[in-house]
Amino acid sequence: MVELPRSLPEFEARFPDEAACARWLLEKRWPGGFRCPACGHDEAWELGRERLTLQCAACERQVSVTAGTALHGSHLPLRTWFLAAWLVATHRNGMSARQLWLQLGLGSYKSAWLLLRKLRRAMVDPEREPLAGLVEVDETSLPFRAGGEPVRPGRSHDGKLLVAGAVEIRGEGPGRIRLAVIGDCSAVALGAFVAGAVAGGSTVVSDGWAGYKRLKDVKHDPRVVGDAPAHLILPWVHRVFANAKRWALGVYHGLRPKHLQAYLDEFVFRFNRRRTPHAAFDRLLGLGLTLEPATYQMLVGRS
Ligand SMILES: [Zn+2]
Repeated sequence: MVELPRSLPEFEARFPDEAACARWLLEKRWPGGFRCPACGHDEAWELGRERLTLQCAACERQVSVTAGTALHGSHLPLRTWFLAAWLVATHRNGMSARQLWLQLGLGSYKSAWLLLRKLRRAMVDPEREPLAGLVEVDETSLPFRAGGEPVRPGRSHDGKLLVAGAVEIRGEGPGRIRLAVIGDCSAVALGAFVAGAVAGGSTVVSDGWAGYKRLKDVKHDPRVVGDAPAHLILPWVHRVFANAKRWALGVYHGLRPKHLQAYLDEFVFRFNRRRTPHAAFDRLLGLGLTLEPATYQMLVGRS
């Protein structure tokens, strides 16, 4: 596996044109060499150099290297997708659609927005393993802005969305995390979050809130230490919440409620791959290989 380009010149040398991007996808899709999806034959003819299509030498089935990926059917060049994925994977804080629009020189803001939404969709791995071992769990509220309004100060629950968070503790520090929008802090909502995010047999550390009293399949370690503030009892999940809030303000100038879960997914994706940007890049383009292509309607309809 070739290392991820560390600079824009390196990126340009690694992916100079459409053919280089097509070749990369080909190797990702069939790391052990071509295998016909229809008949299993291992020889093919290459049709077209840019948007590479292979034709099985036995049954003549034609297979595009972008078939079934997020890139399929896009009118944008492969190289634009690759550059966008590289920018999103390597920029520490990610990019807004507006930044991507300007950086890529795309014709319209809408193209950039749609491209970014498709990359974000690839950020959630449907096969991902739940957190395990010792896991801090807590909930917080995130302020959001309605329409074009800036985030309002104050402690009112107006304009706030509840978010549950979980952080694996590995030795002295955090491992992987999960964040999810929740409707309320009831035992039902928190129980569902823990059931989805944390593997059975793990130990959940909480602040002792009643909503955590009936967790199933996990050991519960409520740490109520007198009046000790929660950020001392649950230091990592609180640090993650604080970072997520700062990130939301810095990159997006506050979050809109409609897409909050997608933003949280992006934050989680970045956090969990913070030491492996090459894995992030592979995932943004490579995981797409197992996803159904998303249409504009699917993306805007998701909330
Ligand atoms: Zn075939």
